[in-house]
Amino acid sequence: MSDRISNPANDAHTFDPPADLAAGANLKADAYERAAKDRLAFWAEQAERISWAEPFTEVLDWTNPPFARWFVDGKINASYNCVDRHVEAGHGDRVALHFVGEPGDTRDITYAQLKDEVSQAANTLAQLGVQAGDRVAIYMPMIPEAVVAMLACARLGAPHTVVFGGFSSEALASRVLDCNAKIVITADGGYRRGAASPLKPAVDDAIAKLGKDNPIDHVVVVRRTGQDVPFNDIRDVWWHETVGKASIEHTPEAFDSEHPLYVMYTSGTTGTPKGILHTTGGYLVQTAYTFWGVFDHKPGDIYWCTADIGWVTGHSYLVYGPLANGATQVLYEGTPDTPHKGRWWEIIQDKGVTLFYTAPTAIRTCMKWGEQIPAEYDLSTLRILGSVGESINPEAYIWYRENIGGGRTPIVDTWWQTETGGHMISPLPGVTASKPGSAMMPVPGVTADVVDDTGTSVSNGESGYLVIRDPWPSMLRTIWGDDERYKDTYWSRWEGMYFAGDGAKRDEDGAIWLLGRVDDVMNVSGHRLSTTEIESALVSHPKVAEAAVVGADDDTTGQAVVAFVILRESAGDGGQKVVAELRDHVGKEIGPIAKPRRIMVVPELPKTRSGKIMRRLLRDVAENREVGDATTLADSSVMDLIAAGMAAPATAGEN
Ligand code: ATP
Ligand code: MG
Repeated sequence: MSDRISNPANDAHTFDPPADLAAGANLKADAYERAAKDRLAFWAEQAERISWAEPFTEVLDWTNPPFARWFVDGKINASYNCVDRHVEAGHGDRVALHFVGEPGDTRDITYAQLKDEVSQAANTLAQLGVQAGDRVAIYMPMIPEAVVAMLACARLGAPHTVVFGGFSSEALASRVLDCNAKIVITADGGYRRGAASPLKPAVDDAIAKLGKDNPIDHVVVVRRTGQDVPFNDIRDVWWHETVGKASIEHTPEAFDSEHPLYVMYTSGTTGTPKGILHTTGGYLVQTAYTFWGVFDHKPGDIYWCTADIGWVTGHSYLVYGPLANGATQVLYEGTPDTPHKGRWWEIIQDKGVTLFYTAPTAIRTCMKWGEQIPAEYDLSTLRILGSVGESINPEAYIWYRENIGGGRTPIVDTWWQTETGGHMISPLPGVTASKPGSAMMPVPGVTADVVDDTGTSVSNGESGYLVIRDPWPSMLRTIWGDDERYKDTYWSRWEGMYFAGDGAKRDEDGAIWLLGRVDDVMNVSGHRLSTTEIESALVSHPKVAEAAVVGADDDTTGQAVVAFVILRESAGDGGQKVVAELRDHVGKEIGPIAKPRRIMVVPELPKTRSGKIMRRLLRDVAENREVGDATTLADSSVMDLIAAGMAAPATAGEN
């Protein structure tokens, strides 16, 4: 990726932090200096945010790379840190969760209530035979019991593996088998798009599929919808009849800092999902620190992260980071357009949300619906907006800032991965002048870099590979059950460096721009082209809501750019005219070489359940191959539609 590809739209604006925010910010510019001077001392300082049952004797043991041990010999309980200690500090009456169910039911849960319920759930799991080290699968809708279940596992030192409630029974079965879980916690169902959708039957299916390999002894079932579900009286127990009746007294045991906290499977955007193992002390320190610093969380803030608990974002920035900080947050069960397209903005208005964290795909969907929708609500309480999951293209960034943030709020574009556990690259809202589309710079304590093929840092203005040069506290410890794959996947490309798999560019000012997966980078007539930049150029056209770009094998040019676009509702019908207009637009924004060979107007794009575009599936279609692992795809019919469209005559001529 040696060619600099510049998209003029990228460099148009810089937003300075608002003066009052800058003056009172949790993290100030000096944090960068302190971390640079003595990184480990800086992390030791961050470790003070957490209550240790026994202090650590060493910050980092890196004598056996790439296997790290952070906060060596420290003893800790994650659940105690997220719950009990806030009650002990006199904050028992503070609301931890403002739960909003999709049908409109609400429940406020204080820290004192959370402590009681987590203790009850821990007692129940212990009674069902769960011991420290045992794995527990959680397959639930976005209801408070899901958070309680995770914290109950953490309390017992039983690593949880949360499987997104939208996944099929196959996906559940493969994860249960991979980590050999002995209990599944689920619900009869949950509400999505205005209807009760069942969950429990998928658990039964998964167990049936596993047959004699089934490791599950018990299924704990929360009654959420009240719908009829099959029930096996020997194996299954109701949450309300067990947890609901258990003692509220439970003493959390202190575990080693390196005790496993959870296994989380990656989105599967680039291939078969990997079971990422996170441990306790370092993970809690980094998520607590970044939640406090990157979101500038203060007492009194109302925080809302829209991610599902089935993703790492739901783990780090809905459960562990916010709760370790004693935050008050919104937990919403449903979809953004049920019962109407203003639902999110209505919740922000009703609950007075101050910090809001979502994904670019959601923002682009809202752009498609139109700015008149959020305009109906009072969003003036918001003070910081966050973005995660993909690069936020400048167009969507500006829309988000203007229409949701009232043109006032900084946006923190946070780059991180399931593997990194916590934020790695992000502006600090009170320090960094931000450029729309750029994640800007590593957070204090993290040493991210952009390197070339030989592993040498690139100069400003150049592109390369994103790496992390030094271990960080919330790093993955391994891939569950596969140390070799852990070494090969992340640590083998360059000696001593973690390779993230993403391409990146350092601009003239040194700010970092993510360019998409290295696997997705295209080579057209010898020019390296980034998917992210061409997609950004497409979305900067007023008629385009979303775009996905892939390179397809081409006899003459090596690879040809193929684009899939969703038009905005205001754009009217697609057709040849729009296609020609879009090709010209890309030519103008980036250069003729980047003009897509083909552009297909599609109603939807293949996305993972966490909303990421699955470019590898589009590439399969563009190259007439059988479509690869699609188990994490949100809606499989989307691929059929797109494949049918691809078989039709080309919708745009040659360059
Ligand atoms: P798999 O590893 O199975 O292919 P995945 O990489 O999509 O799945 P996640 O860990 O959920 O799984 O996603 C991390 C990736 O998401 C990053 O490597 C990066 O490509 C992308 N990403 C996350 N946040 C940002 C961001 N702020 N800007 C650009 N890209 C981002
Ligand atoms: Mg990945």
